[in-house]
Amino acid sequence: MAIPTKIRLEFVTPERAIVHDEVDELQLPGEEGFLGVLPGHTPMLVGLKVGEMWYRKGSEMFYGFVGFGFAEILPDRVTILARIAEKADDIDLERAEAAKRRAEEHLAAVSRSPVTDMDYERARLALLRAITRLQVSRHTRTR
Ligand code: ATP
Repeated sequence: MAIPTKIRLEFVTPERAIVHDEVDELQLPGEEGFLGVLPGHTPMLVGLKVGEMWYRKGSEMFYGFVGFGFAEILPDRVTILARIAEKADDIDLERAEAAKRRAEEHLAAVSRSPVTDMDYERARLALLRAITRLQVSRHTRTR
């Protein structure tokens, strides 16, 4: 069988479609680390963490935010089922900055008083989401 030259990318959340496109290459924030995918990749299923994803079409790069989920990788198709996701262009910068401030205050408060590990983890993840969104949205302003 011929090696495919493109990847059909289906990127969705339970609420909406994020990207349906034909791409040349992509990178995902896998639980075990960032994972680069080119056409012809070995089939695999990967868990996704909070992180930045990108894909390339020709010489153009596109970026997105992923907050947990799964990706099914096939030689000619990648399906991303993210719990939460946004394209870089759709990230509300002020909202992410406000979320970062809130998360920092929350993290400082939970660090000062005895709390459950769950409180700490919730605050840590909120901060990680905010920082990652700010990082992803930076690409739209530097393009
Ligand atoms: P916030 O406190 O601002 O709601 P959050 O990190 O708690 O931030 P999430 O639980 O990750 O928010 O996401 C809830 C919903 O809001 C999702 O649909 C997500 O796509 C959207 N969302 C969250 N932050 C932003 C943002 N800065 N820009 C655009 N959409 C966002």
